[in-house]
Amino acid sequence: MIGQILFGVLLIASLILFFINAKKIYRNIKLGKSVNRFDRPSERLKTMLLVAFGQKKMFKRPIPALLHLFVYVGFCIINIEMLEIVIDGLFGTHRVFSFMGGFYNFLIYAFELLAFSVLLGCVIFFIRRNFLKLKRLNQSELNNWPKTDANLILTAEILLMAAFLFMNAADQKLQALGAEHYHIAGAFPVSSYLVNLLPDEVSSLILIERFCWWFHIIGVFAFLNYLPISKHLHILLAFPNTYFTRLEPKGKFDNMPSVTEEVKVMLDPSLPPPIGEASRFGVKDALDLTWKNLLDAYTCTECGRCTSSCPANITGKLLSPRKIMMDTRDRIEEIGKNIDKNGSFQDDGKALLDNYITREEIWACTSCNACVEQCPVNINPLEIIMGLRQYAVMEESQAPSSVNNMFSNLENNGAPWKYSQADRANWTNQ
Ligand code: SF4
Ligand code: SF4
Repeated sequence: MIGQILFGVLLIASLILFFINAKKIYRNIKLGKSVNRFDRPSERLKTMLLVAFGQKKMFKRPIPALLHLFVYVGFCIINIEMLEIVIDGLFGTHRVFSFMGGFYNFLIYAFELLAFSVLLGCVIFFIRRNFLKLKRLNQSELNNWPKTDANLILTAEILLMAAFLFMNAADQKLQALGAEHYHIAGAFPVSSYLVNLLPDEVSSLILIERFCWWFHIIGVFAFLNYLPISKHLHILLAFPNTYFTRLEPKGKFDNMPSVTEEVKVMLDPSLPPPIGEASRFGVKDALDLTWKNLLDAYTCTECGRCTSSCPANITGKLLSPRKIMMDTRDRIEEIGKNIDKNGSFQDDGKALLDNYITREEIWACTSCNACVEQCPVNINPLEIIMGLRQYAVMEESQAPSSVNNMFSNLENNGAPWKYSQADRANWTNQ
């Protein structure tokens, strides 16, 4: 009975804590400016099913994609078993779904195979990240917490899966010994290899089985509450993020609505003047971004596929699109904490531009869209970079001299080059 009460308290506490933290993230995302991503629902649903559920973009690199699929599918499906664990925990039953007979045995059989594939996948990922030193997993923006975060979650998944398999091994040995409550149920293709490692006394086996059971369930509750501070939030956010993907062709840039309205009025004075004033042209801080940019930041898996295909980064420039997303998330988190503390955002003298992302980074971008193309969860770092550039140019008139020259040429010659319009056709005389 004490165990049931303790389980109930832990379950409710972990759900409440998760709800509180998830609500804060939702509030932070809603701090962004509005943008319409609710049109064309069937196209959006298709994108979500292909990219998030089907992991379509992951398969550009087949080996990590396959390992990721093991971990993703295995981890999701094994958690169906959580339903049984929750019912057993609340009502003091043991393997409550075993009344399903052969189908139950099939499920446990499949869960064990999946648990083993998750374990194997995580071990390989751990080795790849820490010993093979893959470049994109060892760049400077991953120093400290991001690296620890990745290793913590891999270790946790390895331990959770090991606990699941040892729990089943102890259970089947107790079933074979005819221990009370441990009726014959389940099929154990993997954990049967662990049985010989366990002691023969019933009391020790029950201790091991219960320890693994509690370890597994407490681990899952902890994982749930770790998600909001981890890059692993993408497990949940990949779905809405891909649904709300920008559906226009990647190379098509959006005009700034405030500028468009002003230009329209200049061209046609009969139109009514724009209502209100644009608060700011471009993006200086995270609050100038759209909610979708902020959702992108929270969804970033820090995989570095964008950075490893970014021509600026490859040629040694400071720019890393992954860092752009990580900085954006860090800044909006900082703003969120400021709001929690003061009730509303109080100027802290910081901004996304300069305090997090430098001008050297934003002007290194070639606007090639390779990062957008590569991202497995359809994140768009280029939109943020362009917003920061728009602010630098339109609000501060601070563009690099090469860009300023181009602006002057556009203004004077109607083309980016330094030749006057009258000389444009000179090349035909060559
Ligand atoms: S759009 Fe910019 S940030 Fe993205 S890959 Fe190209 S150069 Fe890099
Ligand atoms: S933006 Fe996309 S590709 Fe880049 S690190 Fe984040 S998830 Fe990976």
